[in-house]
Amino acid sequence: MGGDEFLAAVARPRGDPSPRALAERMLAFARRPLSLDEDVVRFGMSIGIARQPLEAFDLDALQVEADLAMYQAKRGGKNQIHEYDSELRSRAVRNKTLSDELRCAVERDEFAPFFQTQHDARTGAVVGAEALVRWRHPERGVLTPDRFLPVAEKIGIVKHIDLTVMRRAAEAARRLEEKGLILPKLNVNVSLPRLRDPDLAASIASLPLSATALSFEILEAVFLDEFDDLTRFQFDRLREMGVTLEIDDFGTGRTSIVALTRLEPDRIKIDRELARDVATDATQRRIVQSIVDMAASLKVGTTVEGVETRAQAEVLADLGVGALQGFLFGEPCDEAELERRLRGLAAA
Ligand code: C2E
Ligand code: CA
Ligand code: CA
Repeated sequence: MGGDEFLAAVARPRGDPSPRALAERMLAFARRPLSLDEDVVRFGMSIGIARQPLEAFDLDALQVEADLAMYQAKRGGKNQIHEYDSELRSRAVRNKTLSDELRCAVERDEFAPFFQTQHDARTGAVVGAEALVRWRHPERGVLTPDRFLPVAEKIGIVKHIDLTVMRRAAEAARRLEEKGLILPKLNVNVSLPRLRDPDLAASIASLPLSATALSFEILEAVFLDEFDDLTRFQFDRLREMGVTLEIDDFGTGRTSIVALTRLEPDRIKIDRELARDVATDATQRRIVQSIVDMAASLKVGTTVEGVETRAQAEVLADLGVGALQGFLFGEPCDEAELERRLRGLAAA
C-alpha cells in the first residue's frame, strides 16, 4: 500500500477461525530476529483488522476501516493488533469535524482567556491570576480545554492558542491597571512547542505589561525527556526578560526532584491530587509538608491548586504553603467578573 504498509485480503467462509489468529501468526513471524549480512535486525508491526460480509463488499470502505484500526493499533504501542469497530469511525468523524472547526476558530479569533485568582495563603490577598483558555464556540458556547486541546495539539495550533491567550490576558491586565486595579502577577500555561518558538522573546517583549509580572507555568512532563539545550537556552532568555517560571502539576510526574534541581524554578504548583485530603489525612499532610520544606530549602515558592474548602486552606496555610488557588476563591471567570472580584476584594 505504501513504503512500509501492506494489505492482506482474506476471503473465508463464515465460521472460519478469526483473522486475528492470522494476524497473531504474522506478528510472531515479524518479531523473529532476522539475519541480514553480518547483522541481526528486528522489526515490529502494527496490524488493523476490518471485515465485511461478502454481500455488501466495498473495498474502499474496507481499506479505510482497516487503516483506522491500524492507526489505533499504533497508538497502543508497538506490535499491537486492533480490530475495527464503528466507534472508531464515529470518533474519526468527530475529530475531523472538530479539527475543521478549530482551524476556523483560529481564523475567527475565537480563543480567549478566563482568569482564576491566586491568593496569599495567610492574608487572602490576590497575588496573581492564571489565564486559562476558553473557546467561544459560535454554537456551543464557552468550551473548556478538555474538549478541544488534544485535537488542537494534533493539528499543531496550541502554539497559536498559547500566544493568543498570553496576549489577550496581558491586554486585560493592562485595562484593569488603567482602572486602578493592579494584578500583581499573570500566569500563562506554556506548551513545549511554544517554549521552543524562536519568536517567543519578541512576543513577550511586545506585551503591554507594566505593573504586572509575567509567569510561565510549565508542565512537569516536559522535563522527562524534552529538556535539551534549546529549552535551557530559552529558559535563561526568559529569566533575563524578567519572566518567572513555575512547574505545573508538581508531584504528578516522575520527575519532581529532577525538575526542581535542573530548572531551578521560581515556584512549584502542587497538584490538587496531593492536597485533596490534607484536612482529613495525616499522611497527605506529611507529604505536602515535606514538599514545602524541600521547596523552602531551595528557595522555591509554593502554590497549591484546586483548593475547594476552608478546612483545606487553613491546613495548607499552617503547613507553610505560600499561595492558594481553587474554587474556594472562585472558578475561572471572564475579564468583567475578574474586575468585579478585584473591586470586591479591594473594598473588603
Ligand atoms: P491546569 O493548568 O492544571 O489548570 C487548572 C485546572 O483546574 C483548570 O481547568 C481549572 O478550572 C481547574 N480548577 C481550578 N480550581 C479547581 C478546583 O478547586 N477544583 C477542581 N476540581 N478543579 C479546579 P481548565 O481551565 O479546564 O484547564 C485544564 C487544563 O488545560 C489546564 O490545567 C492546562 O493544562 C490546560 N490549559 C488551559 N489553558 C491553557 C492554555 O492557554 N495553553 C495551554 N497550552 N494549556 C492550557
Ligand atoms: Ca496551569
Ligand atoms: Ca495545574
